[in-house]
Amino acid sequence: MHKPLSAISLATGLLFSGLTFVSSAQAQALDAAGLQTIDAAINGVAAKMVSWRRDIHAHPELSGQEVRTAKLVADHLKRLGMEVQTHVGGTGVVGTLRGGLPGKVVALRADMDALPVPENTGLPFASKVKSTYLGKEVPVMHACGHDAHVAMLMGAAEALAGMKATLPGTIKFIFQPAEEGAPVEPDATGKVPSFGAKAMVEEGALKDVQAIYGLHITANLPSGVVGYRSGPLMAGSDSLKIVVEGRGGHGSSPWNAVDPVVAASQVVLGLQTVVSRQLNISQEPAVITIGSIQGGTRYNIIPDNVELLGTLRTFDEGMRQDALKRITTTAEAIAMSSGAKAKVVFGPVAYPVTTNPAELTAASLPALKLAVGGKAMIIPKVSGSEDFSEFQKVVPGFFYFLGAPPKGVEFSKAPSNHSPLFDIDEDQLPVGARTLAALAVDFLQRK
Ligand SMILES: [Zn+2]
Ligand SMILES: [Zn+2]
Repeated sequence: MHKPLSAISLATGLLFSGLTFVSSAQAQALDAAGLQTIDAAINGVAAKMVSWRRDIHAHPELSGQEVRTAKLVADHLKRLGMEVQTHVGGTGVVGTLRGGLPGKVVALRADMDALPVPENTGLPFASKVKSTYLGKEVPVMHACGHDAHVAMLMGAAEALAGMKATLPGTIKFIFQPAEEGAPVEPDATGKVPSFGAKAMVEEGALKDVQAIYGLHITANLPSGVVGYRSGPLMAGSDSLKIVVEGRGGHGSSPWNAVDPVVAASQVVLGLQTVVSRQLNISQEPAVITIGSIQGGTRYNIIPDNVELLGTLRTFDEGMRQDALKRITTTAEAIAMSSGAKAKVVFGPVAYPVTTNPAELTAASLPALKLAVGGKAMIIPKVSGSEDFSEFQKVVPGFFYFLGAPPKGVEFSKAPSNHSPLFDIDEDQLPVGARTLAALAVDFLQRK
């Protein structure tokens, strides 16, 4: 059903686009009439988006394994008459829609992968799929809502393909694999081949693109509300592995050994001083968490070594680089003080900070607000991370959240992304598709 524009959205449109709004006969920022055209096209594919989402939800695929999803997407884009590239950065798909009028090039992005999570939603289309993750059989679930992202972008693609003749420029539809992480285990140096957004960038997915937009669905914002912020939005994420090497011996005579258990314990505590005592957190916050300690086999044997796994989260590239150095120095020096050695390796996760450039954010907000009837709010920084940041390293990119708690569930109590109970309100699929289409058209029309 067509949603009438509220007084708020019209006022917001006027406020932000000023005089161009009232004299918008020629190519200018998106106006209410332009949105109505988009809206009608999106409403025409609303039911299809629900069935795509349910189909993808019932057939989730882990990072790097998105073969079925990629085929579904590629077939759809081909049917819409687009130029389609497949196997971009693994299973990635890029569809190119050339408008009838000359102009700029803008990209819209959706991620396609699911997670090794056992689905417990009880939905009629709940996943029963199992796959292999790092050598183990695991249940697979679309617990991060990427099924919704794919469905929304397929919907936006169909709507925009129907408006091809009047589009002033080109829109690239980027369906990305492996957002959640590396599909393969790291080698001895902690490295893996490029994956996800980075791999797509390296294979030319952003060639000629001047800006990129992407969204994440969340159950933890009010229904139909867009959450955004200018500047750092989501943390940069670096995984780290520290091997503390001592010298094994009998637990009764530690003076004949170098105890890596005690040294590793000191390293864990010492690393907490990197954020609390060493980084300038008046600039941006940061987090260091050690999530795993492995070492030893028996109560009275001092082992040779202990392995620590952890994560660093930062919101500023300078602070990130500073923290990486300080983690290494702190771990090495603490281990050395007891005669042990710490080897610090970063990776395979190394996502940059997801940062919305001030200029693109300010320029895009009027269209975004228009598309959601003014239901937009500035949200706090998110310490989770996103490899959309890899696209933002290459071209200006704007990333935002869309609230879609399941019907009848209060957003603050809704199971979060990655939960076995994660679910969304499918009525928000057209809202998300409308925002993507509106942002793309607005970017092409804007001077
Ligand atoms: Zn996720
Ligand atoms: Zn996600």
